Parts: sequence; C-alpha cells; structure tokens
Amino acid sequence: MIYCRSCGKQLHESAHFCPQCGFSFQIAEPPKPSIWMAITALMLSILTLLVLLASAGDMQTLDALSNLESAFGGNSLKQTLAEEAVNSALGGLIFGLPAGVLGILSLNQKRGGRGMAISSLAIGGINLLLILGLYGLSIK
Ligand SMILES: [Zn+2]
Repeated sequence: MIYCRSCGKQLHESAHFCPQCGFSFQIAEPPKPSIWMAITALMLSILTLLVLLASAGDMQTLDALSNLESAFGGNSLKQTLAEEAVNSALGGLIFGLPAGVLGILSLNQKRGGRGMAISSLAIGGINLLLILGLYGLSIK
C-alpha cells in the first residue's frame, strides 16, 4: 500500500490519482544515466597513463645514467632514481585509483558510457603494470 502524498489516504499501489483529493501521481522516472562518471574515469586514467609514460621515460634515462655512474663507483644517481620511481608510482596510484573506482562504479550502476568505463579500466590495467614497473625500479 502507498499513501497519498497530498492528503495521506491509503491507496492501492497501482493508483495513479487519489480518489479522495484528486491528487495525481507522476510515476517517478528512474534518474537518467549519467555518462559523466565514465568520462571522468576515462580522462583520469588517460592522464595517469600519460604521466606514468613520461615518468617511465625519465626513469629509463636515469637508470642508464646510474648504471654508467656505478661503473665509475658512484651510487648517488641510484638513490635519486629509487626516490623518483617511488614518487612516480605513488603519483600514479593517487590518480589511477579514483579512475578505477569511478570506472567500476559507473559499470556497476549501469550509468551509461559503458565503453568509456571499460576503456578506463583497461587503461587502468596498463597503469597498474607501469606503477609496478616503476616500483620495481626503486627496489633494484
Ligand atoms: Zn489524496
């Protein structure tokens, strides 16, 4: 049973208007799917990917330099490399995690933009690999 929102009379669930006061019910429409969650997830994951790729490039250069340095007995660059790699990995997580959560939520709640949400999760997988790679560099 439901109650009339206007006068409070008890009504059958299928009633479209109240026989007592004439109040007519609009059947509540489900909220329109919003694709913004999927768009945000996709943008965040692409941004994370770009930042991670740039960091990975820097790290490779730094790695090569630190190998050269260690050939001459130094290890200061190795230290820098480790710190930079951890920072980049953390940065990737900070942006990548919300992207993943938004992507999953968007799919779960069937919010629309399904393709974009799936793409954001796929990119998120690549991001995770890059993050692990960067972290791996730091403990080398
Ligand atoms: Zn009523």
